[in-house]
Formats: sequence, C-alpha cells, structure tokens
Amino acid sequence: MTISIHGISVSRGITIGRAVLVASSRMDVAHYFIEPEQVDAEIDRARRGRDTVVAEISRLQHTVSQLGPKDAPQELRAMLDVHLMLLDDQEVIEGVKHWIRDRLYNAEWAITSQLEAIARQFDEMEDAYLRERKADMEQITEKVLRAMKGLPATALAQAQHLQNEAKALNSARNQSGRRRTRGKEPHADIHLGDADAPLVLVAHELSPADMLQFKQSVFTGFVTDVGGKTSHTAIVARSMDIPAVVGARTASLLVRQDDWIIIDGDAGVVIVDPSPIILAEYNYKQRQLELERGRLARLLTTPSLTLDGHTVELLANIEMPADAPLALEAGAQGVGLFRSEFLFMGRHGADLPDEEEQYLAYRQAVEGMKGLPVTIRTVDVGADKPMDGAIQDQGHLNPALGLRAIRWSLADPDMFVSQLRAIYRAAVHGPVKMMIPMLAHLSEIRQTLTLVEQARAQLESEGVPYGQLEIGAMIEIPAAVLIVHTFLRHFDFLSLGTNDLIQYTLAIDRTDESVAHLYDPMHPAVLRLLADTIAAARQSGKPVSVCGEMAGDITMTRLLLGLGLRCFSMHPAQILAVKQEVLRADTRKLEPWALQVLASEEPANFLLH
Ligand code: PEP
Ligand code: MG
Repeated sequence: MTISIHGISVSRGITIGRAVLVASSRMDVAHYFIEPEQVDAEIDRARRGRDTVVAEISRLQHTVSQLGPKDAPQELRAMLDVHLMLLDDQEVIEGVKHWIRDRLYNAEWAITSQLEAIARQFDEMEDAYLRERKADMEQITEKVLRAMKGLPATALAQAQHLQNEAKALNSARNQSGRRRTRGKEPHADIHLGDADAPLVLVAHELSPADMLQFKQSVFTGFVTDVGGKTSHTAIVARSMDIPAVVGARTASLLVRQDDWIIIDGDAGVVIVDPSPIILAEYNYKQRQLELERGRLARLLTTPSLTLDGHTVELLANIEMPADAPLALEAGAQGVGLFRSEFLFMGRHGADLPDEEEQYLAYRQAVEGMKGLPVTIRTVDVGADKPMDGAIQDQGHLNPALGLRAIRWSLADPDMFVSQLRAIYRAAVHGPVKMMIPMLAHLSEIRQTLTLVEQARAQLESEGVPYGQLEIGAMIEIPAAVLIVHTFLRHFDFLSLGTNDLIQYTLAIDRTDESVAHLYDPMHPAVLRLLADTIAAARQSGKPVSVCGEMAGDITMTRLLLGLGLRCFSMHPAQILAVKQEVLRADTRKLEPWALQVLASEEPANFLLH
C-alpha cells in the first residue's frame, strides 16, 4: 500500500530506489559493492566472522559449565544457547548470502541488512519474549562484525563480557520478572532481483560524522526521522547534492528494509511503495529536473554579473579537502567556508589531527582550488557537531549555548595555536583567509587575535615558512551585529553565518524538527540584522559575505542583492542556480524594493510576487 510521509526538505531533487535501513550505532560499517567474482570470498569472510563468534561462545559455554549457579545463572546459559542457535539459523545464514550474492553487498553490509530485516520481524511479534530476542540478534551481529575487524576476544574482554551479560540478565529478570520458553524461529522475508536499483538510506538519526562517512557512498538519497533544515547533518546531505528529507518523524518505523521509496526533496515528501501511476509521474518529474540541470550547466563559464553590471562573487562551502576540486567543477570562484571541524569529528585525545596533519589537509584544499582563495574557518565543534561522532552533545542542557566554536578553541589554546600555525603554513601554497566562528565579546576578539599573532610569531622565530592571511569574523550572534563596528575595527572581513544567526535571534534550536516551522529566515528581525551588518561593512569598505544556507537559497538571492550583498558562499550544487538569479537581477530596481521589504511587518509576502 502506498503511503506518504511528510518531513522537511533539505536537499532538492527526486530519487527512486530501495530502502536501506541503518541504525546509527552500526554506521561505522563499510558499505560498498563487490565484483561478482568476489562473491565466494565475501561469503567466506562472513562465514569466518561467524565461526570465530561460534568458537568464542562455545568457549564461554564451557567456562560457564564450570561455574556454580550463583556466578552463572541459568538465564546466562540459556542466552548462550540462544546466541548459538541464532548463529546457526539457516534463515539468517541464507539471508546474508542473498545480500552478498544477489545484491553484491560487502559482507558487513550484508550482515547489517539481514539484521535489520530480522529485527523488523521481531518487532512485529506479539509474544514479548520473542520480541526481546531482537536484542540477542543485535548482540551477535555486533560480535560477528567485531570478529571480522579482527578484534581479538582477550581473556579479560571475555571475562568482562561474561560479567556484563550476567548483570544485564539479572537486572532484566528483576525488572520484568518474566520467564518464557522459546517459540518459533524468526523468518526472513527477502525479495530477490533488482540488484541494480538505486539505494536510499533511511535512519532514525544520523550524526554529521556518519554523514561524512557516507559522502562517497552508493546512496542516492537520505531520509531521517529527526533533524532540522540547517542541522549539520542536513548541510552535509545538501553538499552531496542528493535528495534528502529530515524530520520525517516515523519514517524509519514505517519503511521496511528493501521497500521501494521515492524521495521528493523539493516537497520534503517520502512516498513508500508507490503505485505505478505515482511512479510514472515521478519518473517524468525526474527527467524534467535533469533537463533543468543541463540548462544550468551552460552557465558554468558565464561571468556572474547583474544586469546593471555588478560583479557578484559565488563561493563554495566545503567540509573536506577532497571537496575542493568538486567546488571548482561546480563553478565556484573560491571557497568561502571550509568547515575545518569535519577533520576533527569522530576523533579524540591523542588521535586529534595535529598541526602537520591539518597543514597537509589545508594545503590539499588550497592546491585543489588552483590559485582561487580558500577561507578556512577555525574549528566549530560542539552542539550538533560533537567530536566523538555522537548525534548531539547530550551532556549539557543547552549545547548550542555552551562551549562551542571559538569558545572551545579559547578553552584549549595549545590546540588552537596548532590549528592557527597549520593555516598560516598552508597559506604558502595559495591565497588563504581565516575566519573565526561565533564571536560575541571584545575579550574573545582580543584573545583570539593575540593567539593568532602568537602562532605567526612562533613560525617566524622558528624560520618555518608561512603566508599572509586576511582574518575575518563570522557574524552569528545578534550581539555581534549590535557591536558590528567593533568587529569591523578588528577584522579584515565579515561573513554572516545565517544558520546560527537565525537560531540565536529567534531562540530556535536549528536541529529540532518540532520547532522547525518557526525557523524563519524572513523574520523582520533577521532581515534587519542582515541589512545592518551589510550596510556597516560596506560603509567601512570591508568585504562581507553570507555563508549560511540562505546564500544558496534562490528565493533569497534577489533580496540579498537588494540589501547590497555581493558575495555568496554556498554548497557547490547551488552555485549555478544562484548565478541564474544574479544574471536576471537589476540592483537599481532591487535596492528600493529591498527597503520596502525591510519596512514590512510581513516581509515573506514580498517573495510571493
Ligand atoms: C552558519 O551558522 O550559518 C554557518 C555557516 O556555520 P555552521 O552552519 O557551520 O554553524
Ligand atoms: Mg554557524
């Protein structure tokens, strides 16, 4: 039966494909296609992982048999039996083989796909005892994946594991007081065929680090239950230029592994199990969009000029150095925002990138842009971009208001100085600018600039080559707009981070889909802050850009031009569409119109005309 799920559109376009359900905790599993001749070897790899776990559990069974009932309760013995039985289940084994043989999935991907298929059946079971066996299935899957990574089951790990499982069992027994006997076996319902169908990722939640990992993946679209339009997960999806819908609430429950789904990224709709008529309609829309892309591609080398002759700079936002050549291909005239924190995500302590690693990464981006300027934003971790790759910093009540961005850097001056040194050194290889996120206080400005000077002076005294840098500030907090003249006195340029500026002006968590309807770029207060910043920068003769998502939103281009903006930085896929708007714009008409919009109580009405 066809169902439609409504969410928030974050990335435009249409994709039609098979659903792949993934749980975030298992996202570090590689997803790639193998060659047909690798099928046997891949099945063998999965079998070896399984055999290792079978051997491990058998050893545990032996150990448990030597213990008395106090140290090894009866349930623990039963659980080990269940685990062995699941590992020996023909449906499970054949299911994994199917994903490898018929879909050419790598072994890890095949195993997690089978887990998702079976987990769904467990969820649908009426018997509570059987439903609870889903956790067993998840545990053995994790064990097999660990074994395939070659993680040895040390004696200590085994002992701890044994203890934990005994504890977990005991507490489960105390809580539920239930004991049931085992009933019927899980049964996998797997569709064959369609090995070449595009694949669409469906998840409850994905962290920005998960998304980054999927950047080079095979998926042609994303759906998540949670998230807002400018959450960093959404931003990465957009930079991949594939249709995506977030905030789809129950999508990961309603969609089943392998269902056919359509993602309509423009409308923010997910259609599950589409009827032939709907499918035909979307095939047609998809072709129209491809034609439109073809038309836009002709603008690639057209200079970005308004009808009345103003040059408008169109820059790219990137997350990784490898994105630089793609930005060039998309027609970017430079990088206006390199979100350097993506180098840091999913890494901790001693594993954080040191000066040398950062230098090489920044250098790669600079060389990738072949002489065009690269603006490196210093680390902006915290809030929805925690370092450890978890979904969100849950440790603090209001992470978006906490130790984030420049606050985080100033709290660890050694780490900050090593980043500053790396950026200075990369500037030897091409034009580099540096930009500081989330400043609000004069004291932060002073501390930052002192550390910047310290980094430069260190390189000078050590005789290490470094280049010249322009240093800019991001305007992301309303307080910064209100003291914008202070910012202009201390910095060479400004860049409006509208994603955060809107969040902090309207008190809307940008990642929270339940308040997404209030996240309004056209709110008169937001427009006033933008207009004042742009006007102040222009008066002082210093460059100002917008690098938030607003810069790539074609419904906003004319208004921003009317407010005097001449530099836009956006995800590369939007550059040509924005250029088309620029080519059609006449700032002599847009400027008086923008004043009217600014004076209005309901500015959004002006965009309708
Ligand atoms: C912004 O806030 O608009 C911005 C560009 O920075 P980020 O989205 O990385 O917070
Ligand atoms: Mg920001």
